[in-house]
Amino acid sequence: MKQGPDLMRVEENMRTGPLASHGFMGTDTRSLAGILYADRLRLERLGITKEELAGRMRHFTELGKAQLGQAIVVEGKYRVETVEHKGSIVCPFAHNYQASKCNTRVTCLQTGRSVLWSDLNLHMIEEHGFFEGYGARFRLDPEELADVLGLNPVR
Ligand SMILES: [Zn+2]
Repeated sequence: MKQGPDLMRVEENMRTGPLASHGFMGTDTRSLAGILYADRLRLERLGITKEELAGRMRHFTELGKAQLGQAIVVEGKYRVETVEHKGSIVCPFAHNYQASKCNTRVTCLQTGRSVLWSDLNLHMIEEHGFFEGYGARFRLDPEELADVLGLNPVR
């Protein structure tokens, strides 16, 4: 998969540059462009946009933040808990965006399945369509997210 000079610089930063310690690329050997493309196709197959997915995530994150550090039940079937850590983390796509270090965990009470994301995950999905590389600590799976959050994946 070809990628332009901008994406190449972003990928370098994430792999070996100052942002390498965050492990955005995990153990993934695909190019950044390849990862973005593959996940875009997966969203297309699900019939949802990254904005729809991010909007659903933001909905839970905002409810979680309103009761920071406490588990709440949402829509009668989700357990939501947002915790905040000190500091902020910069978006690796090099445009001066900083996300606070908030993590939101949403558990479906019916199935017991849960997904966890950071504010930066939310931003990177919404703005860049980036779910991180395979093996990354905060890698999110588009199908799993859509499924747990009740976004009617085509199955
Ligand atoms: Zn960004």
